[in-house]
Amino acid sequence: MARTLADWLDRSVQPLARGHFERDLVALRVGGGLECRRRNRASAGPVSEHATGQALDIFAFKLGSGAEAVQVAVEKPQGLAQNRFLDAIRQSACGAFMTTLGPGSDAAHADHLHVDIQERRSPASRFCQ
Ligand SMILES: [Zn+2]
Repeated sequence: MARTLADWLDRSVQPLARGHFERDLVALRVGGGLECRRRNRASAGPVSEHATGQALDIFAFKLGSGAEAVQVAVEKPQGLAQNRFLDAIRQSACGAFMTTLGPGSDAAHADHLHVDIQERRSPASRFCQ
């Protein structure tokens, strides 16, 4: 997971940050890395990929620093440029991870981008919503 995340940040997120905002990605606001629980915090059902450390929830991207800093929140992007940046981020995540879920997929993912590397039946099969 760490390798997949690092590769995605280097190859996709950093170039997108520079292309859309002429700033470097300097931080991610994350939650729910390794956390032993079931999917969507349900009391029953399948175990979450977070329970095995193969998932990460990203709430915001911080681009640049000081007075130049831009904070892009997954839940509430500010303006067209941030919307376009997040659309591009999400598309690239769908290529890098096995599962990508975000706002619009379901209520549990309305405020963050969930990415994980859960194996699927076919390596070419990815879940992207
Ligand atoms: Zn998650």
